[in-house]
Amino acid sequence: MHEVSIMQSALEAAERHALEQGATRIHRIVLRIGAESGVVPDALEFAFGPVTEGTMADGAALEILRVPAVCFCRTCESEFQPDDIIHFCPDCGAPALEMLQGTEMELASLEVS
Ligand SMILES: [Zn+2]
Repeated sequence: MHEVSIMQSALEAAERHALEQGATRIHRIVLRIGAESGVVPDALEFAFGPVTEGTMADGAALEILRVPAVCFCRTCESEFQPDDIIHFCPDCGAPALEMLQGTEMELASLEVS
């Protein structure tokens, strides 16, 4: 399952940060997940328990911040939130291929001790 390996690499990143801070326990992991990242937040939450079992993050809380997609139109230089898979600019109708945000998949913050 896709989300399990994503959760594993997020956990590895979290453990690396925790160790750098001299911590031994991770209490909370906050992830930033873009609407267009292809990651299903519910599946991540589901994977969190089994993946963290027996690790520094055993029993930790998982928080997922969902980042809405934002596109940029080069033609008229406007930013907009797409409501479909194909992103057409609401101002000029040109297809906007550039994403300003919404594809994130990263560690936002951590609580360790
Ligand atoms: Zn436009």
